[in-house]
Amino acid sequence: MPPIPADFGPVLVVAAHHDDEVLGCGGVLARLARAGHDVHVAILGEGATCRLDDGDEAAKAALVRLQQEQARRAAAILGARAVHFGDLPDNRFDSLPLLDVVRRVEALVREVGPGLVLTHHHGDLNVDHAVTARAVLTAARPLPDRTTRAVLSFEAPSSTEWAFGLPGSPFRPTLFVDIAEHLQAKLEALAAYGDEMRPFPHPRSAEAVRHLAALRGATAGRTAAEAFEILHWTM
Ligand SMILES: [Zn+2]
Repeated sequence: MPPIPADFGPVLVVAAHHDDEVLGCGGVLARLARAGHDVHVAILGEGATCRLDDGDEAAKAALVRLQQEQARRAAAILGARAVHFGDLPDNRFDSLPLLDVVRRVEALVREVGPGLVLTHHHGDLNVDHAVTARAVLTAARPLPDRTTRAVLSFEAPSSTEWAFGLPGSPFRPTLFVDIAEHLQAKLEALAAYGDEMRPFPHPRSAEAVRHLAALRGATAGRTAAEAFEILHWTM
C-alpha cells in the first residue's frame, strides 16, 4: 500500500459483523500493527440477534459475550490495540434510519481519530455491509477539520462475490497489499472465531481464504495479498 505518513494517526476498521474484519483485511491489520500503527477494530452489529429466537435473553447475552471474547482474541492475534462493539441489529441495519448508523460511526471516528479507515464494499449482497459502507463514507468524508485522510473498501467472502446482478459497481480492486508474512496470523485470527468458519468449499473456509489470498497476490506478482478499492486518499 502507499507508505502511510507518520502523521496519519491510528487505523480504524469498521465491520458489520464479527469476523468480517479478519476476512476482509486481517493480513493488512497484522502488517500495520507489526509496523507500529495503532489499529482499532469496530464491529457495529451486536451479533446474536438473528441467531436466536426472540425472548431467550439469557442465551442471547451469553452468545454476545462469546462473540465479543472471540473478537478480542482475534484482534490480539493480529496485534490490534482495541475492539469497539456496537449494538445494531444483525441483518436488519436497513431497518434503522441511515443517519443513526452514520452518527455511531461519526462518534467512533471522533473517539479514535483515524487517518486510515477500512470498511465494506457498498455493493455487497449482505445489507448490513452495504449500509456500513454508506455510513462510513459519510462519517469519514474528508472535511478540513477531520482526521481521516484515506478510506479503503475490502471484500468479504460470501457477500462481495455473491452480489450477482445487483445494481451499482462491482468490487474492482485497485490496491494490492502483500500479506505473505501475515497470512498465518490471519488464519489463526479466523480460527479464534471457531464455528463461524465453514468447511471447504464454502468461501468462509480456511482453504478458500488461502486461495483468495493467492489469487489476489498473483494479480500483483505476489504470493499472497489482500485487495482493496481506494475510495479516497489524500497525502
Ligand atoms: Zn458480515
